[in-house]
Amino acid sequence: VPDSPSLAFTSYPLDRAGHLRADSSAVARLQDHPDSRYLVLWQGKPLITAGNQIAWAGPDSPLLALPHPPAVFLGLLGEVAHFAVDISAWQPEIPPDPPAFFDLTRITHPSQAEGTGFVDLRAAMTLLSPSESAIAATAKGVLAWHEIHPFCARCGAASGVTHAGWQRKCPSCGAEHFPRTDPVVIMLITHGNDTLIGRNAAWPEGMYSCLAGFMEPGETIEAAVRREVFEETRVTVGPVTYRSSQPWPFPASLMIGCHGQALSRDITLDPVELQDAFWISRERLMHGLAGLDSQIKPSRPGTIARFLMESWIADR
Ligand SMILES: [Zn+2]
Repeated sequence: VPDSPSLAFTSYPLDRAGHLRADSSAVARLQDHPDSRYLVLWQGKPLITAGNQIAWAGPDSPLLALPHPPAVFLGLLGEVAHFAVDISAWQPEIPPDPPAFFDLTRITHPSQAEGTGFVDLRAAMTLLSPSESAIAATAKGVLAWHEIHPFCARCGAASGVTHAGWQRKCPSCGAEHFPRTDPVVIMLITHGNDTLIGRNAAWPEGMYSCLAGFMEPGETIEAAVRREVFEETRVTVGPVTYRSSQPWPFPASLMIGCHGQALSRDITLDPVELQDAFWISRERLMHGLAGLDSQIKPSRPGTIARFLMESWIADR
């Protein structure tokens, strides 16, 4: 059960059935079972139907005949096994446009029904149901990890996939490697009736969000919140409380949502991290969230920044 149904990627409906992962013959039987379902991804984009549901493939789908690395076992829904498979090596007949921040294209495969295609997960996150968005996020996250970790981080030899896609093992030195999740703090910083929002130069025009940054080794969540806010704006933060979290597979983050109370108001921007930051009143933020502010477009529905903003406005 998610903490908030308005947060995308947080309602994973499958039993991950981790006890089955080490049993390679059981996993192989499930892979061939006619009821088993495959989420097919191409270059990180899940295959979505015209009606914006996951276009599940069966084990005999022509998509699974394309060259692909070992499928990842996502878990069970009742008796039905679910897998993720990466067909990124496939080349569409019409080359796709270069990637945009919000990529709204649908890359089609000739074997699929009209309207079905590979869709960027940033675009699909609010089109899919909460449970299907969580499955897609898990699949994208674990497959992206395999893609960028083909070699052993200890000795450099090529490693192999084990445990139904949840480990890689090095045949040379024996090291075991596990899928990574990188913790990121994201914080709604308040001072009285105002909250601090900022924007990165790479974002679409007018987009503003809560400040955020990667945690460092040896850091507590609270210390990371205070350090990031100070580095980016020179605002000092006192009490910090945890609110909620969200997997964010772009490519491998876990967003840790916090509320921090500022002890100072003066802003000095770090121009490397932020293009702009300012204090916004609760009333103006409400207008922005309603789409009524011509200058600011706050974070999109489904994101944890939006959740933190809406919770604060509702004073929860
Ligand atoms: Zn090794």
